Amino acid sequence: MDQISVESITLIQGEILGDIEGSENIDRKIEGFFGLLKRCIEFSDPTLLNPFLDEWWQTNEVERKEYSLPSVNQILLSIFNVANRDLSAEMANQLLRDILPIFIHANQYEQAKYLESQIKIISKTQVALQQLEKSKSDFISIAAHELKTPLTLLEGYGAMLREILEQKKIFDEHIFLLLEGMDSGSRRLREIINDMIDVSLIDNQILSLNFQPTWLYQLLEKIKFEFQKPVLSRNLSLEINRFSGDEILNFYDGERLFQAIANVVSNAVKYTPDGGKITIDGRKLAEFIEILIIDNGIGIDTHDHEKIFDKFEPIGEVAYHSSGKLKYKGGGPGLGLPIAKGIIEAHGGRIWVESEGYDEANFPGSTFHILLPIRLEPPSQPSSNLYEPLFTRKPLNKM
Ligand code: ADP
Repeated sequence: MDQISVESITLIQGEILGDIEGSENIDRKIEGFFGLLKRCIEFSDPTLLNPFLDEWWQTNEVERKEYSLPSVNQILLSIFNVANRDLSAEMANQLLRDILPIFIHANQYEQAKYLESQIKIISKTQVALQQLEKSKSDFISIAAHELKTPLTLLEGYGAMLREILEQKKIFDEHIFLLLEGMDSGSRRLREIINDMIDVSLIDNQILSLNFQPTWLYQLLEKIKFEFQKPVLSRNLSLEINRFSGDEILNFYDGERLFQAIANVVSNAVKYTPDGGKITIDGRKLAEFIEILIIDNGIGIDTHDHEKIFDKFEPIGEVAYHSSGKLKYKGGGPGLGLPIAKGIIEAHGGRIWVESEGYDEANFPGSTFHILLPIRLEPPSQPSSNLYEPLFTRKPLNKM
């Protein structure tokens, strides 16, 4: 039976070689292919085709096009056509029965090769991305430290100027206004530099936490106090509800947690129009406390729910942001949420957002969820190792 197919192949090979207008090189390759195909049929072993497939795969796509090398599927199609046209029904059926398993193998083999090559490309890209991420992180850390020195000088000279004016009893309102402007500019710059340093600590998983007894209800009251000025001036309402579990004495880094929650609340203030409402609520779960920060502001597009936690990812047209830090839509460098996320995760917690979408006309609002483990005792490990026992997490940026 095999003999019929081998003979048919010899016949078809001649036809196909006649049809293809190619170089001697291609003819040789095709002859080689058919030689192997016949051996595959004779020995019922499709893997004998592998050396050809390897070689075909190694010839890159441009070369394949240049030499008009047919793909394995094109050859199969030609065999079908010639078999239909030139062979008797019996010979054609026999041939197809014999060669189909070979072509199935060839396709699978090629698919595996293709996958392998894609995986190589992806891992190369991943390495490049990791290197880029590392350079970004190094840049942040170096820039932050380099900016600190001139800023300290500016702050120092500003303070000296103030003293000299006082000593010389010069009380000029204009000069004091200018000094006020300089002070607030350097304060903002210092905040940004500190944020950059925090981000690089988080990126490198070296943010260390100082676990102290902490009551959430007290911490949230402090937050309310912190924001009373913008809340009043922008006619916002900031309500903090008491909830089950807020009275538990937990071991957290109160200062860092304050920073994380304040970053989220500061966004709620920024992205809620004047007269809007912000509520902080929560509940006790089996092993966690969940804090909710709910606003009725402009909301966040569902595509951006994860992106907003990446560093330097402020959403929307930065040029349209207003300049005041807590003004409606006041812009920022996009570090507030990555820092909040880093601090919360260093506590073994999680943060995420829910929002129906971004809509500056109907204000769908956003709800930020913060999940914190209940810790009745201070943890024994350093903070950066806290994550694993509670969640299996991806490293932030471990190089
Ligand atoms: P930024 O410094 O820009 O405020 P953040 O990291 O704090 O950076 O926030 C990232 C982006 O997430 C913001 O630019 C904003 O577009 C969006 N965002 C965060 N919180 C809210 C919120 N409560 N309502 C609407 N958008 C928000």
